[in-house]
Amino acid sequence: MATFFEEGTLVGVLTTQPLDRALDYKAPEGGCHLGAFVEVPLGPRKVLGVVWGAGKGGFDLAKARSVIRVLDAAPMRDEMREFLERAGAYTLTPMSAMLRLATRAPGLGDPPSMRKVYRLGEGEPARMTDARTRVLDAAREMGGLALTLKELAEAAGVTTSVVKGLVSTGAIAEEQSPRDTPFALLDADYGSKTLTPDQTEAAEALRSAQRAQTYGTTLLKGVTGSGKTEVYLEAVAEALRTGRQALVLLPEIALTAEFLTRVEARFGAKPAEWHSGVTLTERRRVWKMVAQGQAQMVIGARSALFLPFQRLGLIVVDEEHDTSYKQEEGVLYNARDMAVLRASLIGAQVVLATATPCLESWANADAGKYQRLTLTSRFGEAVMPEMRAIDMRSEELPANRWISPSLQRAVAKRMEAGQQSLLFINRRGYAPVTLCRACGQQIGCDHCDARMVEHRFLKRLVCHQCGESKPIPDVCPSCEAEDRLAAVGPGVERLAEEAQAVFPDARIAVLSSDLYGTARELKAQIETIAAGGADIIIGTQLVAKGHNFPLLTLVGVIDADLGLQGSDLRAAERTFQLMRQVSGRAGRAEQPGEALLQTFQPEHPVIRAILSGDEEAFWAAEADERRAAGMPPYGRLAGVILSGPDVQSVFDLGNHLARNDAPLRRIGAQVYGPAPAPIARVRGRHRVRLLVKADKGAPLQSALADWAAQVTLKGDLRMAIDIDPQSF
Ligand code: ADP
Ligand code: ZN
Repeated sequence: MATFFEEGTLVGVLTTQPLDRALDYKAPEGGCHLGAFVEVPLGPRKVLGVVWGAGKGGFDLAKARSVIRVLDAAPMRDEMREFLERAGAYTLTPMSAMLRLATRAPGLGDPPSMRKVYRLGEGEPARMTDARTRVLDAAREMGGLALTLKELAEAAGVTTSVVKGLVSTGAIAEEQSPRDTPFALLDADYGSKTLTPDQTEAAEALRSAQRAQTYGTTLLKGVTGSGKTEVYLEAVAEALRTGRQALVLLPEIALTAEFLTRVEARFGAKPAEWHSGVTLTERRRVWKMVAQGQAQMVIGARSALFLPFQRLGLIVVDEEHDTSYKQEEGVLYNARDMAVLRASLIGAQVVLATATPCLESWANADAGKYQRLTLTSRFGEAVMPEMRAIDMRSEELPANRWISPSLQRAVAKRMEAGQQSLLFINRRGYAPVTLCRACGQQIGCDHCDARMVEHRFLKRLVCHQCGESKPIPDVCPSCEAEDRLAAVGPGVERLAEEAQAVFPDARIAVLSSDLYGTARELKAQIETIAAGGADIIIGTQLVAKGHNFPLLTLVGVIDADLGLQGSDLRAAERTFQLMRQVSGRAGRAEQPGEALLQTFQPEHPVIRAILSGDEEAFWAAEADERRAAGMPPYGRLAGVILSGPDVQSVFDLGNHLARNDAPLRRIGAQVYGPAPAPIARVRGRHRVRLLVKADKGAPLQSALADWAAQVTLKGDLRMAIDIDPQSF
């Protein structure tokens, strides 16, 4: 049992207010446990806090204020406090901000919320109708189980007013019941599949790791469709059997619906869900059931890592290479790395599943820090698609056309065979650039350094950096020439227009995140496509992420060179991952697939590696290059982002820091910059970045902290430290 503090003793309470230490309070009447969620006075306010340890004292005890009350929630476990401290120290995040991540439960500690439920009552209605009989029959069929008004009415096929009428006669009883009902139990053996020999071997390795109940990380690598999900669900099953909870992180909320259905088929009931699309009431329920150990499995976004699991045994990070695992605002953390940290503190297993690992994970597996399991072939008859380059230098294409004759012929062939083609372009909107043919000006965002992207579907120009949008103007904002604005370059919407012109009879579906208002609309579209309701799919990155389209046999990448143009050291890795992922969409079922990459540089080493599929060679070459440059994962990097409304003072601060680098030099680290940050202006604030490079073993965090402490931020200047930045 956790340490207990008697009434009146001093306790240190960490609050979610931006103060960077625990404050001393007297334990309330009845005392409190270490880790208890409490309400404390702070100035004139009452705020949420957690009892973090004994008080420091050293002042007049009579002046100490008391904890107001202990909230009705399970105390935070020691291991969770340790996790927050370690994660905070790693990311150089104030503890108050870490605590906010771990207290995202709506109504934490409030009395249980109640709702009305209905069951068969004792009374006899004076007058019976067909509808009334149906309600009573439905209630009788439910046995003792109570339903909500809506559920009962739906079960009986009547309106809710019929049920209410029966309540007034006493034939249906109305009761209050706590809203936070438990989750249905999952059955580890419910819908188990017969695995292939390869899959069996991998599943058995994961199961035995799970049984050991110690920490370990496994990189589960396998081409798209090889059954990685089936395999890691076996690890989940083993966690369930041993009475431990499992967390599965997905990179994209849009994927959860499909995944939930799959989990339900495998374990006979739905798991808990935790992401921004979940209602407050449901989140409250999930939080509570997770803390009680009742919720056995959680599917979630990265923030689910901070749920109060009671006995977490397994964390799966699906599509572990996905950049969306890095939170880029507020607390800058990478959920993949934090999953490994959390698991290592509690003796849990981590499974990193991917077809294309990030170089960091590849290197960890290579160094023997992670176990490596590989599924080499696709399930069933499906084989990896044949990959070929279309050399755009020798294709005849009129201006403002992007579908080459070779690609056109391939699509036509698939249409004749009743199969689907996917045309991939990683650009949302209609055209990436809008410029005036009279004065040559491009339309830019008023708040950022980004160009405005035309979205014809929305009839607006949109900034992809800050989200600002405005109607498409008729006259040029610079020279006021009329009707001279021209779209330049292709986006997904423009490509759809071209495809429709080239294939007038084709049914075309566009998959781009901004075309769907809700996850449900997107899901409906995905289902339509999967059922064969489209001949040509035009899609952005969204399609690369794990949807199953059985009729899809051709993938055409419109611009394979797109990702290679930046100066980012990760460009090769990203392009390789994306191209492999997208190509993997073709030919999942019995039909062999084909992937065609339109490129102006078929000799480029990355393009050649993509085409040959020689992954090990690609990773080894990338690793050599990074090692030579002392870059991650062979060296350490941190970004320091300075921002403010006035560009000069932001640069001045950056230069000041760059000159005063003694704390960094002490650990042999180097400073680069200041330079405009990858996103140089956001919402009217200028952003400047300094990059710090250190050796692998150097105490980077403490040096950074000393370095940053040399400056006081005046006025509207801000500083954020980004450990292990995504782009460099
Ligand atoms: P991945 O996660 O590697 O992309 P999945 O686990 O999604 O692969 O498997 C691809 C498809 O093949 C899914 O529809 C899955 O249900 C099916 N599948 C894979 N392995 C088996 C198996 N052993 N038995 C039945 N179906 C399987
Ligand atoms: Zn903008």
